[in-house]
Amino acid sequence: MQEDIEKVLYSQDEIQATVARLGKELTADYQGKNPLFICILKGAIVFMTDLIRHVDDYVEIDFMDVSSYGNATVSSGEVKILKDLDTSVQGRDVVIVEDIVDTGATLHYLIKLLSTRQAKSIKVVALMDKVAGRKLPVKADYVGFDVPNEFVVGYGLDYAERYRNLPYIGVLAPHVYE
Ligand code: 5GP
Ligand code: MG
Ligand code: MG
Repeated sequence: MQEDIEKVLYSQDEIQATVARLGKELTADYQGKNPLFICILKGAIVFMTDLIRHVDDYVEIDFMDVSSYGNATVSSGEVKILKDLDTSVQGRDVVIVEDIVDTGATLHYLIKLLSTRQAKSIKVVALMDKVAGRKLPVKADYVGFDVPNEFVVGYGLDYAERYRNLPYIGVLAPHVYE
């Protein structure tokens, strides 16, 4: 599996330090608020499980799976729900936990949906932000790394459902696509 990775962008140690930093910021901002952390499946699962262990106050968690709708090469901003929340967000301070923000279509949809459902506040924590890919005007409130415009895998992120179990984040070698 390691031979499929051309270069490591963020080591296990760098990721842990960054996740700890984000956890500290969230701890400070959400004191006494009992926030609901919403993990966007599947990519954010590893990040979410590490992140919540750095939040030193009560938190609740839930999961949602969404996917881009229709032709993936055209960013329509349309997203469909594959798995919805079990928890009501009405009146809750919610924190969307994302692996990476690219075009912004997923976040744009989620923020609109959760505000329709009358969340009290909606913030986004993204492990990575690919600013160059942005097509919709959305912004993550807490960002781990600003990443270059490359396809990354590891630490939850996949290519064809593989590499989610890598403990670091890297760029795939070209031979994998061929
Ligand atoms: P957006 O809706 O912002 O265009 O895309 C967000 C989703 O696309 C992310 O949550 C992630 O699942 C996927 N994605 C975007 N960039 C990458 C990448 O570099 N690597 C992987 N594995 N997934 C990505
Ligand atoms: Mg995702
Ligand atoms: Mg994926």
